[in-house]
Amino acid sequence: MKRERRAKIVATLGPATSSQEAIEKLFEAGVDVFRMNFSHGTHADHQKIHGIVRSLERKFHRPVGILLDLQGPKLRVGDIDTGSAELEVGHKFRLDLDKTPGNHRRAPLPHPEIFAALEVGSTLLIDDGRIRLKVLECSKEHAECEVEIGGTLSNHKGVNVPSVILDVSPLTKKDRDDMRFGLDLGVEWVALSFVQRPEDLAEARKLVAGRAAIMSKLEKPAALLHLEEIVHLSDAIMVARGDLGVECPTEDVPVAQKQILHLCKLAGKPVIVATQMLDSMVHAPTPTRAEASDVATAIYDGADAVMLSAESAVGDYPTETVAMMDRIIKRVEQDEHYRLMRDRRRGGHDATAADAITVAACQVAETISAAVIVTFTTTGSTTLRCARLRPATPILGLTPKRETARRLALCWGVHSVLTEDIHSFRDMVSKSVAEAQKDGFAKKGDPIVVTAGVPFGTPGATNILRIAWVE
Ligand code: PGA
Ligand code: MN
Repeated sequence: MKRERRAKIVATLGPATSSQEAIEKLFEAGVDVFRMNFSHGTHADHQKIHGIVRSLERKFHRPVGILLDLQGPKLRVGDIDTGSAELEVGHKFRLDLDKTPGNHRRAPLPHPEIFAALEVGSTLLIDDGRIRLKVLECSKEHAECEVEIGGTLSNHKGVNVPSVILDVSPLTKKDRDDMRFGLDLGVEWVALSFVQRPEDLAEARKLVAGRAAIMSKLEKPAALLHLEEIVHLSDAIMVARGDLGVECPTEDVPVAQKQILHLCKLAGKPVIVATQMLDSMVHAPTPTRAEASDVATAIYDGADAVMLSAESAVGDYPTETVAMMDRIIKRVEQDEHYRLMRDRRRGGHDATAADAITVAACQVAETISAAVIVTFTTTGSTTLRCARLRPATPILGLTPKRETARRLALCWGVHSVLTEDIHSFRDMVSKSVAEAQKDGFAKKGDPIVVTAGVPFGTPGATNILRIAWVE
């Protein structure tokens, strides 16, 4: 089974897509990586979904990735005594640590770390920015605010504090429990929400201990100040436009998206563009033209993957949404202008043997019009370096490690295959030819290009380039 496109599709599973049948339909429509969103659902729900996704692999003989998305330190107001209260523009409103249910004058905000970081003039956003407060005066236990944008404040609404760095780890107790649970189940990617600082990655790395790859969700303006370092320390990045759009001025989001995609391309880190891509398809069978254009733009800009959230988790048309995304991506990838942009985006390379071989492989593949570039990889690193160059030639990632094959499902242009270890040049060529033919990438008489490392089976040792012909 082979996808006829290079960019990948990530879809969030939820109540609308929790059955075997629904998930299978999503996969057939084009999903490469399934996202389990731990902001919702119980461990039992996720365990069930996990089992179903793994069963697809056996049925379709294709590696499928699973992304565990942690909720992170989502901040919320406490109780309001009658369930909700009206906040009026120009009025004063107090937030404090007192647990007594709130009203239209005050509400509990059970997060001392927020009060520790607030300053006079700071902005607090409630309910995705629908309510905006400005701090007039504050202490370690309270903040007296002015209501700048009023509205109905109801129980437990989310709070964003865009302008300050909060002294919170991106891993709450719930996240740690969820992560342990997910790692025991087995997931390839763990996504950290609300990453603020490079140090946040170090903490997560220690806990994950190599059992999954780590994705940083960029949704805090503070993270954008350390973008290069965060990209460097992460295995992949998500442009999490939902919260980013609450925390930053809306007009900054597209600019941040371009910057992030550019940096990820330079670093060779997979990057997902996420949230509201085909949002109107939650309730309609077709997207708006602007949404179609948004997906297309992400592809033109070189995203590895585009993601669906509510559209696939709770929408009325989950399969149709995936099919629509699939069509938009394919259409862009056929565009001559896209090819020109892709060629122009080709970056430099590091002074390593793996990069030297990989750059040469892409060049050779182009010169001889190879049907495919086969990369043997243990950790996935060589295959990623190849994808980073965005070659016109399809990339096969052959690996003896199941988790590598699944991780690579997220990466642009990579068709990953689980194989046995190779022990000789003859082995290398025959496996390459067989896999290229099996999935329809090459036919009799086609040249293929192969990269691998000798001694065979040594991780991180890519040092040979070979041309072979399919016989
Ligand atoms: P979320 O993250 O869906 O977990 O909030 C994505 C985003 O904020 O865009
Ligand atoms: Mn978010």
